[in-house]
Amino acid sequence: MDNTMNATLRYAVTAPNPQQLEGIKKLLSDKFEGAPIDIQCIQDPEVGGGFIVTCGNFEYDWSDKGRAKQLRAELNTIKTGLGTTDTGRIISMIRDKVENFELSVKDREVGTVSWVGDGIANVEGIDHAFYGEIIEFEDGTRGMAQDIREDHVGCILLGSDKGIREGSRAVRTYKEAGVPVGEGFIGRVVDALGTPIDGLGEIKESGYRAVEERSPGILERQSVNEPMETGILSIDTMFPIGRGQRELIIGDRQTGKTSIALDTIINQKGKGVICIYVAIGQKASTVSKIIQTLKKNDALKYTTVVCATAADTAPLQYIAPYAGTAMAEYFMYQGKDVLIVYDDLSKHAVAYRALSLLLERPPGREAYPGDVFYLHSRLLERSSKLSSDLGGGSITALPIIETQAGDVAAYIPTNVISITDGQIFLESDLFFAGIRPAVNVGLSVSRVGSAAQTKAMKKATGSIRVDLAQYREMAVFTQFSSDLDETTRKQLNHGDILMELLKQPLEHPLAMHEMVIILVAVGAGRMDDTPVRKIQEYKEKLITYFNTEHLDICKEITKGGDLPETLRRQILEAVDKFNSEIEVQ
Ligand code: ATP
Ligand code: MG
Repeated sequence: MDNTMNATLRYAVTAPNPQQLEGIKKLLSDKFEGAPIDIQCIQDPEVGGGFIVTCGNFEYDWSDKGRAKQLRAELNTIKTGLGTTDTGRIISMIRDKVENFELSVKDREVGTVSWVGDGIANVEGIDHAFYGEIIEFEDGTRGMAQDIREDHVGCILLGSDKGIREGSRAVRTYKEAGVPVGEGFIGRVVDALGTPIDGLGEIKESGYRAVEERSPGILERQSVNEPMETGILSIDTMFPIGRGQRELIIGDRQTGKTSIALDTIINQKGKGVICIYVAIGQKASTVSKIIQTLKKNDALKYTTVVCATAADTAPLQYIAPYAGTAMAEYFMYQGKDVLIVYDDLSKHAVAYRALSLLLERPPGREAYPGDVFYLHSRLLERSSKLSSDLGGGSITALPIIETQAGDVAAYIPTNVISITDGQIFLESDLFFAGIRPAVNVGLSVSRVGSAAQTKAMKKATGSIRVDLAQYREMAVFTQFSSDLDETTRKQLNHGDILMELLKQPLEHPLAMHEMVIILVAVGAGRMDDTPVRKIQEYKEKLITYFNTEHLDICKEITKGGDLPETLRRQILEAVDKFNSEIEVQ
């Protein structure tokens, strides 16, 4: 059988001499397992100087252009590893690179675009590309190999597809898709690829991490043991979240999902937690409002906003949460605590569906591709609490899912519910009834967080969840009866007050000691004589009173994190004093 390989050599001016030709033949022959090589030489002025040899899917670029490109790549490595502003040193580094520059004889696998559109390009000819590899197109646009088929590779484009045509060249880079990471990203707004979009100049990166990173294994983790305080009374009392936990925020549109995530970020001020807010598929105006809120509350200083708006292509929306997680991992592996919000994963799933359909993957339930569960499980598995050996850092994830008409049993909601460690279910009915945050106490749960709740909170919370459940049941039974006995009336009144207390205005997170004081007071019935409509005012005044008059008590709760009986009595004495002094009617 004739296994001769046909190669093409393009040159601009001078054809290679026979000796050079022999050398090239030998090189190609070694590459293709000793097959005889037949070289055809073609003159092509486009080459510039030198030659370009193509054989099969491989290309050796010894042209002037190729040399310049290799040198440019070398010089780029200086830029990333710089860390100095000394010009003399920079010049000497550049000179060093240029002088020691050696043209490598590395071959590159090259293919051609067979179809392009909607942010997707199919490339034929690059047979060895791996999943997630960066593919570079003729015009400099980069893509990521996402769908590897027998006859072509489907790439999602990480830039505009305007400069790419059918027949355009595409080259393997042998590099995994990644994003720059580092401290420089804190306080900045970036796109899904880590490029700043806030007009505050370049970001100095400290490293580069693959967007698709392996999640920590069981032995590399420990169970959650530190609280991630949201500052929202109804959540921290009944559904406490621990650092390293994944708690889903789920609800219909406009039920306050984003607000809960933002309040949680705002509450991390001074707690040493780095926050990352990933906006996926939202309107740019909404994201801009969110950034304003963070700025106003001084929370942008410790937050990175990763933004892929509805106007961005599906591939960018698809990559954004992974990129945000890569940035979070950089800090987690340094032993720091990170809070990451994915707002929202419903839109993420929709973006993934769009690009999967374009990649011609078979649609399954609700037209989502078969691996849509894996899409979110491999993302959320990366949030964890690392073992002490690895520094004990953590990523706490607050993914958000939007439901349609409260249907938590739809495909994507059930998937994400089963992946996370609990969910906070927000309900439109409650929201419109003025109960905000609209947390549905019956359907919400936090499966691991109570292990991380401070003792003080645990003791102060007591049986509030059960009390509320009983109250709701009783309220239903008694809604039509007019004359109630004294005990029932009191119980109903107490429930009304509890419900009122759990209402919380936006951007007003409560500190742990404030929650403890409120809970102790209401638990001992010290608020039962206050009219329900005055409860919010009473709460505010009580907190101010403690923060100014009883700093010792506040400090003891915060420092000790416990609530011994003596301290509880001290709190109640102070509350009684407050009640006798102040008149809220
Ligand atoms: P979307 O589905 O559009 O993303 P969402 O569920 O994220 O909405 P938010 O944007 O957080 O909801 O909130 C919707 C509206 O409700 C906002 O105008 C917000 O100001 C208001 N809101 C949310 N929480 C509260 C609260 N605790 N008190 C008062 N208003 C609130
Ligand atoms: Mg929202």
